[in-house]
Amino acid sequence: MKKLLLINPRNYLKSGLLNYEFSNFPPLGLGILATLTPDNWEIEIFDENFDDFQFIEADFVGFTAFTGNAYRAYQIADIYRKKGIPTIMGGIHVSMIPEEAEKFIDTVVTGEAESIWPTVINDFEHNRLQKRYTGIRLKAHQLVPARHDLFHRRYSVDTIQTTRGCPWRCEFCTVHAFNGTVYRQRPVDDVLDELEKTTKPLLFFVDDNLIGYSKRSMQRTIELLKGMKKRGIKKEWFTQASINFSENDEMLQLAHETGCRMVLIGVESEKIESLKETKKDLNQKIGIQNYSNIFKKIHSYGIAVLGTFIFGLDTDSKQDIQNRADFIINSNVDAFQTTVLTPFPGTGTYYKFLRENRIHYTNFPESWQRFRFFENVIEPAKMTHEELTEELFTAWSRIYDPKNLIKKFKMTLTETRDVKTAFLSLITNANYANTIFEGTGYYFDPENMMKTVPHGGVFDKINT
Ligand code: SF4
Repeated sequence: MKKLLLINPRNYLKSGLLNYEFSNFPPLGLGILATLTPDNWEIEIFDENFDDFQFIEADFVGFTAFTGNAYRAYQIADIYRKKGIPTIMGGIHVSMIPEEAEKFIDTVVTGEAESIWPTVINDFEHNRLQKRYTGIRLKAHQLVPARHDLFHRRYSVDTIQTTRGCPWRCEFCTVHAFNGTVYRQRPVDDVLDELEKTTKPLLFFVDDNLIGYSKRSMQRTIELLKGMKKRGIKKEWFTQASINFSENDEMLQLAHETGCRMVLIGVESEKIESLKETKKDLNQKIGIQNYSNIFKKIHSYGIAVLGTFIFGLDTDSKQDIQNRADFIINSNVDAFQTTVLTPFPGTGTYYKFLRENRIHYTNFPESWQRFRFFENVIEPAKMTHEELTEELFTAWSRIYDPKNLIKKFKMTLTETRDVKTAFLSLITNANYANTIFEGTGYYFDPENMMKTVPHGGVFDKINT
């Protein structure tokens, strides 16, 4: 029996968004490839999120990676290549710049890999592995469930993907480049069957937008949630959706009844010029002045809003950075992911910054390790690189000030009238705070925080 080893590499700097167990999610793509691998193969998923790498014998070694952990994948691949063991890699990063990956990996798969994986395995078995394969986008009903049983047992969250693709073309986003602009929804029964195989009490629908972009797609979400109810699938779940998540009361009610606790919504900015710059068209259409009522309505169903915000946009002055912090602090958004504009390969932002020679770190592939959302890797338009870093720390210190996080916890509790939702929101903020201030000595422990609210000190230290 041949052995296929699938490796989920970890950012070598061991920091960034994926550094905390709570924000680590199983490598779904590897689980899907495992499903598509014939029974005459033994399969192991080695996950650096939990275990330090050690050499494991295998006949064929596969990797998936985002930009932030691509370098680590190349490093591990080198160990196997030196022993003559063939390596293969797919995922968003190598799909966008396969020429780079080909220097470090024997075989590169671009695009969605499942369409081509059976061919890859067959070619391996017949000793005719190619240098490059190109996956095509399958129809939604052709997508297969992941082998959840192979994921590391320490993951506290199950993940499932019910849709792919997005018709919008936000400048900073890789989704439309990788998964395409056609929104594809898996058949409800396929999703429910996969859901029944998950075992954790927490679930993350990793869809970039669970509800879709039309009345029909919203109806399909309603059918999915009705199906969960009918089959008795009750989980604490969270997801991602566009700002029109609040539009359908029936969907909100079903989301509440099936255990939805939080929805991530791409707010990005409170400034219309920034929304124009990023081509965040839906948010412009809905209108910033309506955010507060939208969030309130979502709260009324016991669901918290995790808003994502981007700092360092070309339209951002120093004052705009602090204004965005003010908006976050004063608005009724519950949890906040506050990242720096990062030019990920494949995005419009990347090509623009490359063209204008405004990427600060360019020692690739090593520098990709810095592309992890919370490190400033750009030369912004309206200030220097160093000034942006300084402004970011001032803004972050204000946003994630423990007093503000406690204030937000109370707000979430009041508006959602749900202790679990309020705690999930607080823990989410604590994770972001700990990620951002890693290495500074700051540590936010939500449970202890509820007993004693610490005062001052730590943020002053960060700023000096
Ligand atoms: S940010 Fe969201 S809405 Fe914009 S392209 Fe990406 S997935 Fe679509």
